[in-house]
Amino acid sequence: MKNISIILLAILAVSLTSCGQYSNSKMESYIKANSSDTTIPKDEVGWKNKLTDQQYYVLRQKGTERPFTGELLLNKEKGTYKCAGCGADLFTDDMKFDSECGWPSFDKEIAGGKILKTVDNSNGMSRTEITCAKCRGHLGHIFDDGPTATGQRYCVNSASLSFEPVSKTTQKNKPVMKTGLDTITLGGGCFWCVEAVYEGLIGVVSVESGYSGGKKVNPTYQEVSSQNTGHAEVTQIVYDRSKTNLDEIFQVFFSTHDPTTINRQGSDKGTQYRSVIFYKNNEQKEAAESIVKELNAKVYDDKIVTQVEPFNAFYKAEDYHQNYYANNKSQPYCQMVVREKVEKFEKLFNDRLKK
Ligand SMILES: [Zn+2]
Repeated sequence: MKNISIILLAILAVSLTSCGQYSNSKMESYIKANSSDTTIPKDEVGWKNKLTDQQYYVLRQKGTERPFTGELLLNKEKGTYKCAGCGADLFTDDMKFDSECGWPSFDKEIAGGKILKTVDNSNGMSRTEITCAKCRGHLGHIFDDGPTATGQRYCVNSASLSFEPVSKTTQKNKPVMKTGLDTITLGGGCFWCVEAVYEGLIGVVSVESGYSGGKKVNPTYQEVSSQNTGHAEVTQIVYDRSKTNLDEIFQVFFSTHDPTTINRQGSDKGTQYRSVIFYKNNEQKEAAESIVKELNAKVYDDKIVTQVEPFNAFYKAEDYHQNYYANNKSQPYCQMVVREKVEKFEKLFNDRLKK
């Protein structure tokens, strides 16, 4: 099925890009709304709801609080100063010094590029503005007239900061994080595509292409392609639960194949190309059923036909099918079909890609 002539593929690729099984913008907003990072509101309305008027004025409108009024100006407790917008760690107590300028002042920042510096020529002055790199909230300005060895003075609005004392940091009950490795088996059409997509996702430890859901033990590619064994082409994904989760894995799955066509992905037709999730436990089953319900309601116009079935066995496909896209990028099918899916994934999940 995958050895169709280039011309036919070219035509099909055009129809694939325009087949519009769902609206890209709907999927994009669904992914944003369900991102595992909920610290950054989606829009200004969200920011207004999250912040106090004073915080909004400073962080979002680049305002400046009146000097000597900030709550944290005289704070001498041990702890961490965080961005009041998104919670990013910016400074620690040992970086703070007494300044007479009227705003909390620091002589350095926590390493790691958490603060952006840009030229600010507003109000007839040439200054360097500092903003939170994560949420782009305005913090204040930086000057090179600091009294300590660094020579720097980060002059920060108290309203841009929240303070977490050490006592709280150490005692705080960290949210229970599911850890360890888990495995999920997904069929989303041609396994070359599905495998290539998941190879790029943070938290994915290994990806293998193979066959599941059929009767014969250890089927060959030819046997599966004959549609007599009942197998689907699948990708088995091992992932680190502390770095990604089922929700994200399913978001990637549903945004990179068409779950509304029965036994078909674009030009690939046959039961081996069916859309299917093989769950291994109740958690996977419930998560799968839940996202299908959500996407049916919010994203897709056509009904999702993805099967949610108990996992039985996985048979690894022939060696030449493993890492097929990485090893055969110039092959026409990879050029016309796989690449498009990988690019779509990279666009939608651009902050979740392995470096
Ligand atoms: Zn921030």
